[in-house]
Amino acid sequence: MSHTAELIAVGTELLLGNIANTDAQMISQGLSQLGINVYYHTVVGDNPQRVRQAVDIARGRADILITTGGLGPTCDDLTKVAVAQAFGKELVYHEPSAQRIRERFAQRGTPVTENNFQQAMVPEGCTVLDNDWGTAPGVAFQADGTHVLMLPGPPRECAMMFRHRALPYLQKLSDGVIASRTVKTFGIGESAAEALLRDLMNALHNPTLAPYAKPTGTELRITAHAPTREEALRLIAPVEEQVKAILKDKVIGVDVDSLEEVCLRLLKDRGLTVGTAESCTGGLMAKLLTDLPGSSAVFRGGVVSYTDAVKRGLLGVPEDLLAQHGAVSPQVAQAMAQGARSALGCDLALAATGVAGPDPDDRGNPIGLVYLALAWEGGCQVVPFRAGTQAERERVRRMAAWTGLDLIRRHLTGLPLA
Ligand code: ATP
Repeated sequence: MSHTAELIAVGTELLLGNIANTDAQMISQGLSQLGINVYYHTVVGDNPQRVRQAVDIARGRADILITTGGLGPTCDDLTKVAVAQAFGKELVYHEPSAQRIRERFAQRGTPVTENNFQQAMVPEGCTVLDNDWGTAPGVAFQADGTHVLMLPGPPRECAMMFRHRALPYLQKLSDGVIASRTVKTFGIGESAAEALLRDLMNALHNPTLAPYAKPTGTELRITAHAPTREEALRLIAPVEEQVKAILKDKVIGVDVDSLEEVCLRLLKDRGLTVGTAESCTGGLMAKLLTDLPGSSAVFRGGVVSYTDAVKRGLLGVPEDLLAQHGAVSPQVAQAMAQGARSALGCDLALAATGVAGPDPDDRGNPIGLVYLALAWEGGCQVVPFRAGTQAERERVRRMAAWTGLDLIRRHLTGLPLA
């Protein structure tokens, strides 16, 4: 049976815009991994009538209700009272939770005030979700066909309670296992990916296929429901192959974290080193690569050659090339990559020179044009990248850096660079 969950975040500070509803983002991501549908998020202030109304509306649309916030000891922490009332339940004193509160305060060396024991009041007949990360326990109960879970608001507590308490509870509701695999792509937007995959998506029921837009490309999550994980993965496998066959060289991997990670693994597997020569990206390509632990095995170093003098002095870009073609040119990109390769003593060198904006350069190169070059033993190729003349500086730089990294992936997997 498929389940539908609805989230209710309680907190006036959310409504005032003082904080963002990051708990809902985290929980929704987790629910989608479980294959549980989420159609509505509600944010409601610390007001018992409105919390009650939100609960009454939500229970008419979903069979799983998850609240966040309002479980603390202060008078605006009213979630349990309002939700218990909505389901006709009394709040009862839960001594084990009271004991945990006493112990937590004793550990901190602070006296426990009476209002803290309000947190040990729980709806009758509920499952108490012990909170090892804070004082307010969470609760879960089933009433009138609805599963209700209440989690504390502070994001770290909420995340731990969701992962270690709510997820196991929700997994038990499912009469099988839900498994998913995510095909990651680079350089293809959600609508383009969806257009290519629409027929396949429409034809599928189990597994399902869903696209998610990400800054670098689209993720395609394939989710299957089956009695065992092995069976779910068996259902996923042919769909995964179909997705790969349709999206071809845009696919960078399955269940991989990032393009950077893919590049690092490819370089490691082949025992190759890499270096960078960056103008408009200002070291971003080097940063992306060195953000990953273990990058020292493959990353030799990088030169941020922002000025012509540094391009000449450190990378050996010929003076006449700069004079004749300008810094933003395929010729200079190539010379930067080749220069970096010999200056840094690396197997591959990646170079970027372009116009990040907000103005075009003095040779009339448009905003968003970046020449990327990859040099290797016996070869070098330049690939122009265009972010669009309306693109913001940050986007030009980020996308150019990622597109540069994608040249490494393409080169090492035998794909054409452009
Ligand atoms: P406490 O025991 O701290 O009172 P609580 O469960 O009662 O926890 P709230 O009092 O509602 O939770 O919120 C505590 C803090 O947690 C808020 O000030 C806010 O910083 C953060 N918080 C609450 N709800 C959310 C949310 N949905 N997303 C992100 N942060 C939240």
